[in-house]
Amino acid sequence: MNSLLVRFFLFSLVIAACSIAVTAWLASQATTGTIRQEQGEALETDAQILDELVNYAAKHKDWTAAQSEVDGFARKYNRRIALTDLNGKKLVDTGNENSPRLPITPKATVDPLNVSGKIDPRAVGPFQLSDAEKEKLHFYATELAACNDKIQIVDAPNGRPRLSNLEPGQFSRWEECEVGYQLYTITATEQAAYEKLQQLFAECLDRLAPGLQPLAKAAGRVSLDWDVTTVRDSSPEAVTCMTNARRDQLRPYVAPPTYLFLTSPTGEEPMAIDLSTTGTTRITLVALGILALAGFASWLTATQLVRPIRALTAATQRTAEGDRAVRVDGGAGEIGELAKSFNAMSEKLAETERQRQAMVSDVAHELRTPLGNITGWLEATQDGLAEPDPHLVDMLLEESLLLQRLVDDLHDLAQADAGTLRLHPEPITLDDVVDQVVNAQQNREILLRAEITPVHISADPVRLRQALGNLVANAVRYTPPGGEVVVKLFQEGENAIIEVRDTGTGIAPDDVPHVFDRFWRADKSRSRRTGGSGLGLAITRHLVEAHGGTVSATSVPGRGSTFRISLPLA
Ligand code: ADP
Repeated sequence: MNSLLVRFFLFSLVIAACSIAVTAWLASQATTGTIRQEQGEALETDAQILDELVNYAAKHKDWTAAQSEVDGFARKYNRRIALTDLNGKKLVDTGNENSPRLPITPKATVDPLNVSGKIDPRAVGPFQLSDAEKEKLHFYATELAACNDKIQIVDAPNGRPRLSNLEPGQFSRWEECEVGYQLYTITATEQAAYEKLQQLFAECLDRLAPGLQPLAKAAGRVSLDWDVTTVRDSSPEAVTCMTNARRDQLRPYVAPPTYLFLTSPTGEEPMAIDLSTTGTTRITLVALGILALAGFASWLTATQLVRPIRALTAATQRTAEGDRAVRVDGGAGEIGELAKSFNAMSEKLAETERQRQAMVSDVAHELRTPLGNITGWLEATQDGLAEPDPHLVDMLLEESLLLQRLVDDLHDLAQADAGTLRLHPEPITLDDVVDQVVNAQQNREILLRAEITPVHISADPVRLRQALGNLVANAVRYTPPGGEVVVKLFQEGENAIIEVRDTGTGIAPDDVPHVFDRFWRADKSRSRRTGGSGLGLAITRHLVEAHGGTVSATSVPGRGSTFRISLPLA
């Protein structure tokens, strides 16, 4: 579980799962919304078509002449409309010979006498007024309407005009409009139709509930508002009989019931998407598929990502086991940078190791000669081959001082390396330091002088004397008799500069970069006695750098060298 690979993989898997789930949810939400809306629109269209067809059926005895009108509906609503009788015989079809077969179940039944259990008011049958009657009634209605300009005349389906917008008590103020009251007299057509209806109603009651007859008959009167056909006696038999009577009466005037089939113009059923089971299963399966793909992709990425890290780990382990030659190729990017840093570190480690080994062997080499000399002379004395005279003692003392110097230098370097080289800075005048060093190194063979411009800084005077002393000692040492060494002190910008220039042997250009290395000597054969320990310049550099300064060397072979210390004033 701690593996980067596994963690990355699980993490990206979780992210992928979440995003897929949310996307699927949003998509299904949007789709169901759209489908519901589309289905709603389709339902509304279908209801309008049904209404148009019921209207047609209410006004025609059959469907024989219906084709062109139904074609009109089909175009208007962009649907294929087909009607069959109750035995499945096709009556009307707006599709052509290429249209597919009709669905098995019809959308609805077109029956003006039974629209959701009710008789469609547009089926008027024998109640349809003649033109003359309509004209006469309209005249009365207009008379009445003239008495009140708010009144509107609306025709009932059978052509009888009716008044709307009547105010309560309106009739009591209509004396002058008396002629208009004839609007409420029943016409001959209506009279005949009502009588027939009464007769059918009475026959039905005779059959269903003989006891009810007299009352029901009286109550069975229908109002002039023919379509409101109320039965005051609301006994179930009376209600049933009135409905039956009306249906029986109207049946010969309306088209027989038919089945209605509605499809899209091309014949297909409108797409019915079911998101309950199959839809959800499909979405789930697709989502799982995508998740598997995402998982595979992130596994690939994760292994790619982890490979260089594993290589780095292996390399670090080998380095820890002592192999300094390991290098890794991390490619580009952050891990590439890490690999580069690792390689640099490894290189540095190898370099330090080399230096350490060189140092140990150099130290052993430097110690061997003086120690060998001392041991040799002491053994010779022991064997009686040499006299322990003052000359021998001088020699032994010289060798021992040489060893002492070497050990002191090594100690300084070790302190510098360990970072324990302590400075005791104090405000000083550099003039004193230069003076002291120049005076201490005076000899008769060469001209050693100082050129001083007073400079004040804060520094450790003992350590600075040591550093400058090494430079001046070298200059004197590598300058032949009759030569000149000048020590110059001056200020340059924010720095104090001490220059030690000699007219000595100089240093070959290839050697200049090495003069500050430990145990490095231009002339390898030069004896320790004429040369120093080979640590002087290394120590000088450490001391100057400990003061925040720099030291550099320039030289022209055969003409002389210049060493330059630069110390910050602040
Ligand atoms: P050493 O104790 O051998 O002088 P240093 O570290 O002081 O060691 O100097 C290293 C080497 O640099 C010397 O051996 C010498 O070859 C070269 N060197 C240093 N100073 C001078 C100089 N002023 N002129 C010529 N060569 C020099």
